[in-house]
Amino acid sequence: MAAVLPDSVRVLVRGWLNSNSIVLRAPGDNVLVDSGYCTHREHTLELLASRDGLDRQPLERLINTHCHSDHMGGNAAVASQYGCRITIPAGEVKHVEPWTPQSVWMAQFDQRADPFHFDDTIAAGQSFDGGGFEWQAHAAPGHDMDALMFFEPANRILISGDALWRKGMGFVWPEEGANPWIEAALETLATIEALAPSLVIPGHGQPFHEVGDAIAEARSRLRAFATDPAKNARHVVKVMFVFALLERGAMPVAEVPAYLERVPCYRSMAERFLARDPADLAGWLLEDLARSGAVRIENAVARPAAVA
Ligand SMILES: [Zn+2]
Repeated sequence: MAAVLPDSVRVLVRGWLNSNSIVLRAPGDNVLVDSGYCTHREHTLELLASRDGLDRQPLERLINTHCHSDHMGGNAAVASQYGCRITIPAGEVKHVEPWTPQSVWMAQFDQRADPFHFDDTIAAGQSFDGGGFEWQAHAAPGHDMDALMFFEPANRILISGDALWRKGMGFVWPEEGANPWIEAALETLATIEALAPSLVIPGHGQPFHEVGDAIAEARSRLRAFATDPAKNARHVVKVMFVFALLERGAMPVAEVPAYLERVPCYRSMAERFLARDPADLAGWLLEDLARSGAVRIENAVARPAAVA
């Protein structure tokens, strides 16, 4: 079991707005996995250049686990700084070329990403060299049906993206009855179990060894969501709203109902699964997030407790 990461594998641990970035160092062939959220691009570039990252060396290639805004939002900034080649999962091409559907999709969630150009794609079954090791791409559908995860068999390290975190995973869409996202996410967990990584580098949070516990926890959450789509929808609403607060830093409580009404994903979750109007939704949401400690409310302003 890999007690520590090989020196050529560097994890820039971020928070919940920015995905982690993983620097795979090999002279003349440095690789970065995922680039964070666009509004934090300057900080991402600083971290990347630092001794914990590239240590001022060039970057040859950037590869994404999936094309959500918190993982590819910094692609354009990184490519313009380093002139690196960008590789995205083959299934994500339809989401980013042309950029118009991506803009439409992000408007649903009030998210942003700088448009970028990719140079090539990677698909499940293919591999790439990074940090002196070969990383195999495996399909990781569920949270994003076109996502990949990358497994390095010599040290048994898995870069899981949002397919598995230490506590949970990226949200999956709610659905009444059979839920293809949850089915896919459960299959992805079975793939991870079969790969038997000794260390997981998640898209968010610290790298961890407790892979069995993490899989068990993710499974139990997914099963609860499968039997109770409204619970899943409440989870999606909370995750999306905390993300919005992380981007903004704060939001006056009085503005929350109008915000939830304006951004389509909340309206759709509320109408389809929660039978609440926006004002009602705002009251419940803030109370729930404050009670769980995810949000602090002071002087009628809501702020996120987590780091961005
Ligand atoms: Zn993410």
